[in-house]
Amino acid sequence: MTSPVWHPFTQHGLDEPIPVVTHSEGAALFTADGRRIIDAISSWWVTTHGHRHPRIVAAIQAQAAVLDQIIFAGWTHEPAETLAQRLVAMMPAPLAHVFFSDSGSTSVEVALKMALGYWLNRGEPRHRILTLDHGYHGDTVGGMSVGARGVYNQAYTPLLFDVGALPFPAGHGQNTLDALEAACRERPAALIVEPLVLGAGGMLFYPPDLLAAMRNICAAAGVLFIADEVMTGWGRTGTLLACDQAGVVPDILCLSKGLTGGAIPLAVTMATPEIFEAHRSTDKAKMLFHSSSYTANPIACAAAVANLDIWRDEPVLERIRTLGDRQRLRMAALRDVHNPRVFGTIAACEIGAGDGDYLATIGPALAAHFRERDLLVRPMGNTVYVMPPYCIDTGDLDAIYLGIAAAAERFRAR
Ligand SMILES: *Cc1c(COP(=O)(O)O)cnc(C)c1O
Repeated sequence: MTSPVWHPFTQHGLDEPIPVVTHSEGAALFTADGRRIIDAISSWWVTTHGHRHPRIVAAIQAQAAVLDQIIFAGWTHEPAETLAQRLVAMMPAPLAHVFFSDSGSTSVEVALKMALGYWLNRGEPRHRILTLDHGYHGDTVGGMSVGARGVYNQAYTPLLFDVGALPFPAGHGQNTLDALEAACRERPAALIVEPLVLGAGGMLFYPPDLLAAMRNICAAAGVLFIADEVMTGWGRTGTLLACDQAGVVPDILCLSKGLTGGAIPLAVTMATPEIFEAHRSTDKAKMLFHSSSYTANPIACAAAVANLDIWRDEPVLERIRTLGDRQRLRMAALRDVHNPRVFGTIAACEIGAGDGDYLATIGPALAAHFRERDLLVRPMGNTVYVMPPYCIDTGDLDAIYLGIAAAAERFRAR
């Protein structure tokens, strides 16, 4: 019987196998046909500490037994209050306000709405958004608008709003900074960036001093700076936030993916008092007009509080450092790969000929190669990357790199 399920980012016409996963543990997934799969990509970048961390499981169970869901407009609950307070304490000042939503994409939509609301409420409406080439900010219409244009959104281009895209940093990045200086003169509302690592754009890295320079230009020009740390947050780049490495504090911060340790959907958009105060008024027309049915779902908030407990009580940064070191050693030992690179817990390289290319013809063969080896590696075209849960052991990491070495040999450019 064929399944009625329509999968995301899946070409059903290729009839690629879609395994049934029955359970998970740590860095492993287990399928209905009895295979143990190593999760080399943290189930699409969400699983930080490992699957089914006992404290997160316990928090979800306990909260589900007490309060499942409550409208969040005009009502509140303990898990959301605790989580918001602890996020404010954990994230850099002055990010003192926490707006909840359900996914990375919605956290970006909220950030954009905060930015435009800020300018309108101040009586100087601005709407232009600046972005970085190759950026990715989600698959909703606003997220796609501020992200890279390509085959994955060409059907929807007529819906997307125009943005000011800055060139990706080349060399020391002066090209990006010059473009940003020029663009800021036209009084845009905000710049949105993925700090230090452009994930879906192909695991492209740029240095902290450039991030700091971009932030400074925005601050000097009075342009809001939005950091989309949906992927880079929660230790992925070696520090809690990627912004930390540059000493950068954004005006608006987007977090999701690892916010619940990867167990359940939740997102936050954090903002400075200046942005919050621009919306606070006795005039209802000035409120932030955004909500979703499950805003700040108590079960999701409880999972996120448990994630924060893990960050407080367990040596998470040490695990991250160790994982980074291990990735660096293994990446350096690979032959026949292009542009091997490691940043924090993220390792990437290109296989076969040339640069990254999302529809590269070797893509499907590469994917099949990893499937055959029971590895959850999902190449982006011919870019292969490893971004595992922090708990992965050396044996599983070795198996991933053996798989990559075999792919590099098999698909070597002739
Ligand atoms: C994944 C991602 C998003 C979108 O998050 P979803 O939860 O998939 O909607 C947005 N921004 C960045 C940087 C991401 O990596």
